[in-house]
Amino acid sequence: SKSKASTSSSTPSKASAPPKTSSPSKAAATVVSSSRPTESVPAHYEPEKVPMDVRQEIEKLFHTSYPIHITKDVFDTKADLIKLRRYFHANPELSWQEVQTAKNIASYCESLGLATKKNVGRTGVVAVLHGAHSDGECIALRADMDALPIQEENPHIKYQSRKANVSHACGHDCHMAILLTVARILSGPKYVRQLHGCVKLIFQPAEEGGGGAKFMIDDGVLDADDSQLNCPAVDQVYGLHVWSYLKLGKIVAKSGALMAGSAHFEIRVRGVGGHGAEPKGTSDTVLAITQLCIQLHSIVSRNLSATDCGVVTVGTMRVGAAPNVIAEDGSVTGTIRFLNTAVFELIQQRIQSICRGIELSFGVTVNVEYRSIPYPPTVNHAKNVQYVTDAVHKVFPANENVVVSNLTTMAAEDFSFYLNERPGCYFFVGCGVDEYEGDDAKNMDDGDDKKVKIYAHHTPTFRVDERCLLIGVQIMVNLVMELLSKPKQVNNTAQNEDATDMIQINDFKPNEQIEDKMIGNDS
Ligand SMILES: [Zn+2]
Ligand SMILES: [Zn+2]
Repeated sequence: SKSKASTSSSTPSKASAPPKTSSPSKAAATVVSSSRPTESVPAHYEPEKVPMDVRQEIEKLFHTSYPIHITKDVFDTKADLIKLRRYFHANPELSWQEVQTAKNIASYCESLGLATKKNVGRTGVVAVLHGAHSDGECIALRADMDALPIQEENPHIKYQSRKANVSHACGHDCHMAILLTVARILSGPKYVRQLHGCVKLIFQPAEEGGGGAKFMIDDGVLDADDSQLNCPAVDQVYGLHVWSYLKLGKIVAKSGALMAGSAHFEIRVRGVGGHGAEPKGTSDTVLAITQLCIQLHSIVSRNLSATDCGVVTVGTMRVGAAPNVIAEDGSVTGTIRFLNTAVFELIQQRIQSICRGIELSFGVTVNVEYRSIPYPPTVNHAKNVQYVTDAVHKVFPANENVVVSNLTTMAAEDFSFYLNERPGCYFFVGCGVDEYEGDDAKNMDDGDDKKVKIYAHHTPTFRVDERCLLIGVQIMVNLVMELLSKPKQVNNTAQNEDATDMIQINDFKPNEQIEDKMIGNDS
């Protein structure tokens, strides 16, 4: 099977010699030379008209009740786009092990003629697409590359994961395929000659808990690069996630907190063990740890304001070894979710106090540790949300309800680290498989009353409707073409208007807080 895997690993590179769609290079050359001196900058980008026969094909594919505007150039990539996604799907790699994935991505970008840098933030890849005019902004688009330690159970699909206990159960395979295809389209001469500035493509490792975004930022992914990539600092940053709780053709883009911050804790309790028949002189860890769990669950209901959002979940409890032994030590692990740092601080303080109380009540010692890098909340910037919304409306010109703006999820996402540094927007692209199912049918996130079967993220049967790929590509293309349709504005007020957002999230210094709040061994 090893040789099989390596044969098919050439798929992206094969797809990477793309027929450069419909624009003859002759036309490109003429326009570039004639447009240089007296530039007529178009006020806004309008996607091209689609020939009737192509439009009919697209409408047949999506059969929506409203028009959907996918350009011919984007639609022409459909077969390769799906091939890319399925290749990644069949060959998943866990966080920090995305070596072959990164190699394929880098060679795809190189084949498009893009300056490409490998091993950024360990296994990450960065490529830069330069517009014909260097006077514009630098827009970063990000895709995550890692899969999950989950055994896939989708035997009906031919491209099911070839690796035992590893699968793209979150949809990051889709994100990579979308971003590579956006790069392929935008690197066509017809697009390059319209672009002011550059597009930075960020392929990031270890989103699933590893905080890969932070490693890429520490490695300078948002900074100017005078050597290899030859590009200025990133001005704005965008990313998308396919979202199976949302039906195809729906997008979630909202300003403010879209996703929660998260931190994982481990609490170790140590008592004094003994014979199960002789409790005197012991400190029973089973009793202490069960009380601890009950009290942890009082934080959200009793300490948080009724209008604040927070979650404290105890996910595991380990204690005791035999029915006739008083347990000496045990531990619980869990996760905290929050939409602002004040809530995070409050929850941490309460955990600390509760642990002190347990120590006093039961004569045990309790240590709290926070595992892995905490993720800040993903807080979008109003102006950038508007840019995404405009790009979406160009795809669905007659449907005002396509963008859902009131949805917040307590799931976490390390895109938040980019949004701490730069204005930008993270958004969800509906990929729900529209199927009625019996007992486990649920309502989708968009408020639709219809009950459908949801193939949830992070489960063995996770599935997407692959038509979402074309939608994702078209939104990103529209977004970039609009943002880079003009030279950089010197007095851009975007940051000032979003100043409150910026202050709120810049206050968040995860590591410092965690260290301050850590209960030491001597407590
Ligand atoms: Zn995930
Ligand atoms: Zn994900």
